[in-house]
Amino acid sequence: MGELKVLGSGTSSGVPVIGCRCDVCRSTDPKDKRTRSSVWIRENNLSLLIDTCSDLRAQALLAKIDRVDAVFFTHHHADHVNGLDDLRIFNHIQRTVIPCYASTRTTKEIVRMFPYIFDGLKPEGGGKPRLDMKILDGPVDLHGVTVIPVPVMHGKESVNGFRINNTAYVTDCSFISDESARLLEQLDTLILGTLGLKSHPTHFTLKEALAEIERLKPKRAFLTHLDHSLGHEATSSILPDNVKMAWDGLEIEI
Ligand SMILES: [Zn+2]
Ligand SMILES: [Zn+2]
Ligand SMILES: [Zn+2]
Repeated sequence: MGELKVLGSGTSSGVPVIGCRCDVCRSTDPKDKRTRSSVWIRENNLSLLIDTCSDLRAQALLAKIDRVDAVFFTHHHADHVNGLDDLRIFNHIQRTVIPCYASTRTTKEIVRMFPYIFDGLKPEGGGKPRLDMKILDGPVDLHGVTVIPVPVMHGKESVNGFRINNTAYVTDCSFISDESARLLEQLDTLILGTLGLKSHPTHFTLKEALAEIERLKPKRAFLTHLDHSLGHEATSSILPDNVKMAWDGLEIEI
């Protein structure tokens, strides 16, 4: 049995949003403080990250992450990759190159966004992450842990969710095809991206996410990648019994 920890449950701006005075941004409930979305999975002595979000350093310190055996990227948007440079600390600790799995498109974008990491030049002092970018084109088996990519649409972009055992993490998403829905059958836990209340071209609203949960029928679901229109307590009180709001630090057995 392994564990999944939600490192961050917030949308791209995080919550509170800089400069915002709304009730949720001024809330004193710790569950309304959301860093950018990412999860940490420990299974079979492996330590896996999904995404290297903008808040990776703070999240790693808080969760006491001391090892990263591999990273799986959902997609290349800034909130999901901007902590990439922080991986170099794990290179130092482990003295290994870190394998990073991503789609062809995400890999291309990451290389374009972080040219200094991939230019093959030795840095003068400082240092840079040593990463082995691996193209993700199907399930990956790492020491007995199988990570299954689940392609979903995020607006017009095809991005990846991931399934490990009977748990799936599908963050930025606005459409799940029937084919991908089949990869999400018989789940114990689905963690699903849910932006907020207002309709959005690239993310599920609360209403749409609840309809997807109805369709996919996991035993239970957690909502993540949340914006400031969804206060933890108020939203929790209107959710069906098997659906909960995720929060930073939430731990789930997988
Ligand atoms: Zn995002
Ligand atoms: Zn706000
Ligand atoms: Zn995105």
